[in-house]
Formats: sequence, C-alpha cells, structure tokens
Amino acid sequence: MVAPKVAVVGAGVIGLSTALCIAETCPSCSVTVLSDQFSPNTTSDVAAGMLIPHTYPDTPIHVQKQWFKETFTYLFAISNSAEASEAGIHLVSGWQVFKNTPKEELPFWSDIVLGFRPMSEEELRKFPQHRFGQAFTTLKCDCPPYLLWLEKRLKAIGVQMRTRKVADLWELHSEYDVVVNCAGIGAHQLVGDTELFPVRGQVLKVHAPWVKNFIRDGDGLTYIYPGIHTVTLGGTREKGSWNLSPDPGITKDIFERCCSLEPSLRGAQDTKVKVGLRPSRQGVRLQREVLSQGGVKLPVVHNYGQGAGGFSVHMGTAKEAACLVGECIAALQGSSSRAKL
Ligand code: FAD
Repeated sequence: MVAPKVAVVGAGVIGLSTALCIAETCPSCSVTVLSDQFSPNTTSDVAAGMLIPHTYPDTPIHVQKQWFKETFTYLFAISNSAEASEAGIHLVSGWQVFKNTPKEELPFWSDIVLGFRPMSEEELRKFPQHRFGQAFTTLKCDCPPYLLWLEKRLKAIGVQMRTRKVADLWELHSEYDVVVNCAGIGAHQLVGDTELFPVRGQVLKVHAPWVKNFIRDGDGLTYIYPGIHTVTLGGTREKGSWNLSPDPGITKDIFERCCSLEPSLRGAQDTKVKVGLRPSRQGVRLQREVLSQGGVKLPVVHNYGQGAGGFSVHMGTAKEAACLVGECIAALQGSSSRAKL
C-alpha cells in the first residue's frame, strides 16, 4: 500500500487535531477531513476553550491526566511562540471558588496547571459568598481563531478539506483505507451510539476588556473566562436537551450569576448569545473497530464523546487516535503483503 488513504469525519477541535496528529505521524498517508460543518459553525466554536478538565467517570484518571498534560504542554508551547495571537492561545490566571470546602482539595490536574495553591483569606474577601478557593494559571483557547489556525496548518501539510455529510461510515469504504470518526454529538446518529447524549450549554460573549482574571464557581455552572477579544460568561448544563435556540430567560440568569461574582460586569457591552451541545458520555470513545460487509473490511477509529472538556484533552486524545490509525495501517500492510506471498 503506497499512500494509505485516511478520512477523518468532523471538523471540530477533535477532528482537526486528530487529522493533524495523523498527518504528522504518518507522512506517507493521504489525509482528508470530511465534514458537513466547519468553523464557525461547530460546537467547538461555541466553547469557552478553558483548560480546566472535566472528569469522565468511565475513563481511568491516569489516562485523563495524561491527555490533559499532553494538551497543556502542546498549547503552552504555542502560547510561548510568535504564533500565539494568531492561534488565539494565551495564559490566564484566576480563581476557582467554593461555597463549601470540596471533598477533593487537590484535583488530579493541580500539578499540571501553573502555580496551583489555596487562596488566601485576603483574596477570598473578593468573594463574600464563598469560603474556599484555589488560585492558578492555566491556558485558554479563543476557539474560532484556534480552529482556523489548525485548518491553516492542515492545508499547509497537504490535508484535504471537503464539505460532505456522511450518512453511514460504510459509504466511505471504496474511497478510503481507514476512517476516523470525530463527529462529536453527530456520532449519536452516525453510528447510533445511544450512550452519547447532548448536554446543552448557553454562554454569553461580552465586551469587558477590564476583566483580566478568570473566575469559576466550583460547581462548574457559573464562570467568567476572559479571552483575547471577548469575555465568555456561563453557563448552563442541560442534559438531554437538543435545543440550539438561545433562551432569553437563561441569558438574564447567566448575566446575574456572573455579576454576583464580578460586579463590574454590569458595565459589559455587545452581548452575543451562543448555544452548543456537548457530546457527552460516561467515557470518551477512543477505540478501533472493523466494519465488514460481504467479506470487505473497513477499519474505523472512533474519537468522540469529550463532553464538557474537549479543549482540555484534545491533543492527548488526538495522539492516541493517531496511534490507533497507525495500528490499522500496520494491520492492512501486513495483510496485503501476506496476500502477495
Ligand atoms: P464538534 O465541535 O461538534 O465537531 C463535530 C464535527 O463533526 C462538526 O464539524 C460536524 O459538522 C461534524 N459532523 C457531525 N456529524 C457529521 C456527519 N454525519 N457527517 C459529516 N460531518 C459530521 N471544553 C473545554 O475543554 N473547555 C471549555 O471551557 C469548554 N467550554 C464549553 C462551553 C460550552 C457552552 C460548550 C457547549 C462546550 C464547551 N466545551 C469546553 C466542550 C467542547 O466544546 C467540546 O468538548 C468540543 O467542542 C467537542 O469537539 P468535537 O470536535 O468532538 O465536536
């Protein structure tokens, strides 16, 4: 097999980063991204893009930690390069505050973010309703610029981008040797995964350039994340809702909750409301599968279900998916050389 043909379905942060890792680890592969939507029309465009991991109950913690570490290291290098502003990646410091001291005072990711420490009594005076807090510095992606930067890198190394809705992965068997499924919430229909469910999130993007520190309520529901051009105010977590229309009542509620954490936001302007569906499962689906019909086989690698934490783990899961693609190609090459004997 001269140049194995790999199709990556999906152009959110998971599909683009996976295509990049495959093209970099397998330079002889011909990689194509197939997607019905590209930036700015994906869930990944709606995300706040903060590197604060979400916990997946069915994925071992050491695996989640490794994914986060690889992603943090990758983005830290970008933030420390001339590419940082174009890629929309920057460091941001701030506080995670709790009304009651959490059971786990040291989250598994505390030694990966920078300068993690308990907040002092003086710092906590800023948050009179909260009794405990953690201060640290992490990374933030401004999502649409980061997706465009990934697309630009992919095109520069010869990866093809095609607008196409895939109804069934099998339809790709005559054109591609390996198919990678990074369809996010679209995998619910594409592969009939009933363990995958949407968690609707509504956020506001506001102009408030004086807000420089992030603030996150420890319950994960209310947050203020300053980016390069706008501040993201959140949020909601509505399990099972497929509704993509903004709800004005929720917009008001988010704004009030954020103002109670950061009163200066009352002066924010240019509010834009965004809604996205987090592709959620108990554990990320990162695995190989072989589809087969009438003796013809199609190796597939699944990489979806990153839920509320796709940006936080994307490079880690992309590298693992690229390894699985490498295994599929090695198996195909093994079977084609056996066939020649
Ligand atoms: P998507 O971005 O949805 O991409 C899926 C792609 O597949 C799309 O291009 C779509 O068009 C394509 N597709 C689907 N079905 C088909 C098909 N049949 N044929 C062809 N193409 C198809 N994560 C963090 O780490 N930090 C945060 O601060 C954060 N904040 C968030 C805030 C909100 C409000 C929301 C909604 C999410 C947030 N997330 C955050 C989570 C993050 O957005 C997701 O985990 C991530 O975007 C998932 O990426 P994805 O590429 O799997 O999905």
